[in-house]
Amino acid sequence: MPKTLETVLEIDLKALEHNYRFLRKRLKPETKFLGVVKAFAYGSDAVEIAKKLEHLGADYLAVAYVKEGVALRDAGIQAPILVLHPQPGNFKKLIKRCLEPSIYSPKILRTFLNACKTLNQKSYPIHIKFNTGLNRLGFWENDVDHIMDQIKDREEIKIASIFSHLAASEDLNEKVFTQQQITTFEKITNEVDEKLGYIPFKHLLNTSGIINYPEAQFDMVRSGIGLYGFGNDKKIDAELKPIATLKTVVSQIHKIEPNESVGYNRAYTSDDYRMTATLPIGHADGIGRQYGNNKSYVSVNGTLVPIIGNVCMDMIMIDVTNIDCKEGDEVIIFGEKPSAEEFATCANTISYELITGISQRVKRVYKGA
Ligand SMILES: *Cc1c(COP(=O)(O)O)cnc(C)c1O
Repeated sequence: MPKTLETVLEIDLKALEHNYRFLRKRLKPETKFLGVVKAFAYGSDAVEIAKKLEHLGADYLAVAYVKEGVALRDAGIQAPILVLHPQPGNFKKLIKRCLEPSIYSPKILRTFLNACKTLNQKSYPIHIKFNTGLNRLGFWENDVDHIMDQIKDREEIKIASIFSHLAASEDLNEKVFTQQQITTFEKITNEVDEKLGYIPFKHLLNTSGIINYPEAQFDMVRSGIGLYGFGNDKKIDAELKPIATLKTVVSQIHKIEPNESVGYNRAYTSDDYRMTATLPIGHADGIGRQYGNNKSYVSVNGTLVPIIGNVCMDMIMIDVTNIDCKEGDEVIIFGEKPSAEEFATCANTISYELITGISQRVKRVYKGA
């Protein structure tokens, strides 16, 4: 890649392929793989990532909302798409674009059945979500009879799968709790299989689930963060490759005298002669104020230097004293070093929040296509 002249998020599709194969290898060959591409594929680019995953042979894709699924269909994505959190007002659109809803409550089930009836659907695939301990979305174990009563003799729909979501798959101190979730899920799926008259496929694991509980892979797994290069675990992180590098460029260098301040509200005051560099990226681009005031570090020609003062909307300032640095030089906000995980951890957040928060103002560029 040539040196960047502006702020870009560089997406490495070869790294995505590496991560996909790494995760796939840990599964039984017959286990299906769902790639989670919600939130612009965790801030990278849903369409490009979905295309690549389709090409690599992912069996399913998932988004959070109908609108995200529609965008994928508009771009020609043909893989089955699970919509994890559909809103009832969008069911007609969902059906028109062949998106498959997660059905998580009695009301959602009723409304969806009505939409299918209105649009003359037959055996429309739905995915029943059960709550096994996350207490976020889903039917409860004792809803199984209710669901069966509702869908018995309804030709409009067909349960394609039964699924649940782990609350703490990355936290090995919560092994007992996770094991309980797995057991509850097994119980639910057995009951459903018995009462339904046909066998839907089952899925439970997210990325950390694949790593820590492969015995619970059932028929499919759902991976997001692992595809983008993070495993919520240092050893796994070392084997995955972050697919996104956030790069920018030095706009201007300033010589600062002792006791001068830098930036809004004079949040930084120099203790000595300092050199600062101003970068064209700020909180409107997704680098929030929590990263300022010496919390997080960026890489300038191989050296890590702190962000000083308050993060502005469109700019940050960094301390480049005694560093080889001039206007036009490239700066890595995160990528290989520092990784998004390291950058995020310094400011008490997680890679998920940092990467999904890189705003649409930042241009995405691709390599390894
Ligand atoms: C976001 C999400 C995932 C992906 O989780 P990762 O930790 O990113 O692998 C899987 N399942 C559900 C229901 C989700 O909402």
